[in-house]
Amino acid sequence: SMVAEEAGAAGEADDAVGLATRHLVQPWPYAGSAGAEARTLIGEGDGIYITDAMGKRLIDGPAGMWCTNVGHRREELARVMYDQSMQLSYNTPWYTMNAPSAQLAQRIAGHAPGDLSHVFFTTGGSTAVETALRFMQFYNNVKGRPDKKLILSRGGAYHGSTYLSASLNGRPRSHDWMDGLDAIAVKLTAPDPFRRPQGMSIEAFGDFLVEEFRDTVARIGAERIGAFIGEPVQASGGVIVPPDNYLKRIREICRVNDILFIADEVVTAFGRLGSIFASGEVFGLDPDMITFAKGVTSGYFPLGGVVISERLLEGLRRSNHPDALFGHGLTYTSHPVGCAVALKNLDLLEGGVLAHAREVAPYFQARLKSLEELPLVGEVRGMGLMACVECVADRESKNPLELDTNVGERIDRHCQELGLLVRPLINMCVMSPPLVITRGQIDTLVDILREGISRTMEELRKEGVW
Ligand code: PMP
Repeated sequence: SMVAEEAGAAGEADDAVGLATRHLVQPWPYAGSAGAEARTLIGEGDGIYITDAMGKRLIDGPAGMWCTNVGHRREELARVMYDQSMQLSYNTPWYTMNAPSAQLAQRIAGHAPGDLSHVFFTTGGSTAVETALRFMQFYNNVKGRPDKKLILSRGGAYHGSTYLSASLNGRPRSHDWMDGLDAIAVKLTAPDPFRRPQGMSIEAFGDFLVEEFRDTVARIGAERIGAFIGEPVQASGGVIVPPDNYLKRIREICRVNDILFIADEVVTAFGRLGSIFASGEVFGLDPDMITFAKGVTSGYFPLGGVVISERLLEGLRRSNHPDALFGHGLTYTSHPVGCAVALKNLDLLEGGVLAHAREVAPYFQARLKSLEELPLVGEVRGMGLMACVECVADRESKNPLELDTNVGERIDRHCQELGLLVRPLINMCVMSPPLVITRGQIDTLVDILREGISRTMEELRKEGVW
């Protein structure tokens, strides 16, 4: 990133960097550079690659933001967006409907586990989470239990940037300086085996998490808790894969206590873990609702949604308040262009991309795991085609590095020089490339990451901070 003053001439110029530093507010800005910052300018994308403004080709390591699943510049997707726009570019979802959204809902429901049968479309992940939670509130109001509204979430969670969804986030630095609705959320321990108490087995850690969940429900009272929301694999928290069976056990506690279990699959759905939805196929779960976004269009169009169970909808239809109105809808709900491109994206996923992702995932994980040889690396973990390299100051104590060493950003800087874009997360680097990545490209990705981490180690040693 670059602050306007430092950008010098560029800050004055009318090129994209100059314009950005004068007119663009970037997402997640720091106060000190808000409205005066430029980021790596990307000009083109092609397959797993993006090209920066200097013409340098980079592997898109994070797949944009876990979303460019079938890769950049897919002619089929561009074509369908053009064709749909020429046929019907928009219709108001309040009192008209379009065919692509109905067809997409059917296809998505067909992939969803349990009795998840209906889809409410949104503009992305935050609005999907917001919809699921507002639906829970509405459901409990209609069912005559207005006190059953608290939401259980976890440390390490990321559920979005709207007010309600952001209130559930549990990542470090998500909450400092930010206001949220603390009254609605109860936070549980992150299911992070790497950060489990010293001397505790992973199995015992799983038991601890389940006990904590059970105790929390008992302490607060199930009659006050409306939902649990969790990412099957916590993505932005650092690709945290929970202990075996933990999610299933939580799901059972929710079932017994009539607490809705919401799987936030904004990252894990549409191929990242090798299936359209991971809840059922990978984790054996049957959530009451699943939120999705990102990979549903491979990032070509802002679209998300919630898959809702037949049981819940039936509960509403049979309630004593048939006139109760769920006052919730977005101008772009069921957008025909978004749904059309999602349908074609599903064709690509089902037609080979999913199978490919499943095929290369073990190789991807094994190759990345070899980076644990590097002394700065505390752990490499992951699942499917998402992984995280967590750096530590000391492997024995697992103590993190000082925040201001910005180790993730340093690794990203070195890797960008070498041809790989990395997603830095404080002391971690996320790798979640487009699902079409080949073995040869995985080799290149890992080689560059290894070199980037080695250069970072050298630099930290030279500065005497490590
Ligand atoms: N849930 C999860 C698990 C996410 O990773 C994200 C985005 N990173 C969101 C929700 C929010 O999605 P969006 O940015 O599309 O609003």
